[in-house]
Amino acid sequence: MQGLIDIFKPERTFRPQRKFTRDSKRGLLFEKAQATLGLQLCMSDMVVVPPGEDKYEWIAVHAVDFFNRISLIFGTLTDTCLSSTCPAMSHSNGSKRWDWKWQDNVRYKKPTRLPAPEYIFQLMNWVEHELNDDELFPLSSAEPWPRDFMRRIQRIFTRLHRVFVHVYYSHFRRIQEIAGEAQVNYCYKHFWFFVNAHALIPQSELEPLADLASRICRKRKDYPDNIPPGLIPSTPPKPHKSSLFGYKKS
Ligand SMILES: [Zn+2]
Repeated sequence: MQGLIDIFKPERTFRPQRKFTRDSKRGLLFEKAQATLGLQLCMSDMVVVPPGEDKYEWIAVHAVDFFNRISLIFGTLTDTCLSSTCPAMSHSNGSKRWDWKWQDNVRYKKPTRLPAPEYIFQLMNWVEHELNDDELFPLSSAEPWPRDFMRRIQRIFTRLHRVFVHVYYSHFRRIQEIAGEAQVNYCYKHFWFFVNAHALIPQSELEPLADLASRICRKRKDYPDNIPPGLIPSTPPKPHKSSLFGYKKS
């Protein structure tokens, strides 16, 4: 089966992929994290900070990695996620509704309703700007982490999660059409285990995808059987039966 990078072409990435300097400590830690993806490790073990490593460094490396992977996934949807098809960043499931407005205190000083593609464009720009901030991610291990590191990193992961929500609720059919379902589910599963292990997202923000998580992130099914280096679980999670993704599967 194909891997994330085969289906979600890097040339179609939504934002340019961020790279680590190869010989930097962060680069080496990134390679270590990547290496675990090809091993027969359960997801809850993969997300644990390796012995002797700095927790904040581990989180920083994953923030960049998830930004890159989500950018690849959303890059595939830019033809279908339009202002006309997705006029707002709103999603509902039964009686529950999530309606997100954008605010960055720069261009948008007040919460502003935007079409979903514009909201996500602003969101990814904002995350990229945060990831490029040397005060938040000091370039040298001699420099201390900022005191508000966790508050800011939680905001990054919380906002990235909203892209998953939009992908699953509004564009999952398209993901299935390009046979990317297993890859997106795998990426979300990794993300879900990571943010829960490190308390990066409040449960209220995870709620829109709680049904999905209860299906694909169950501890009992945590072990990906025979997972190849291409990162794909051998048994893709079953499609959601309800209208969670905005349509009923025929
Ligand atoms: Zn959309």
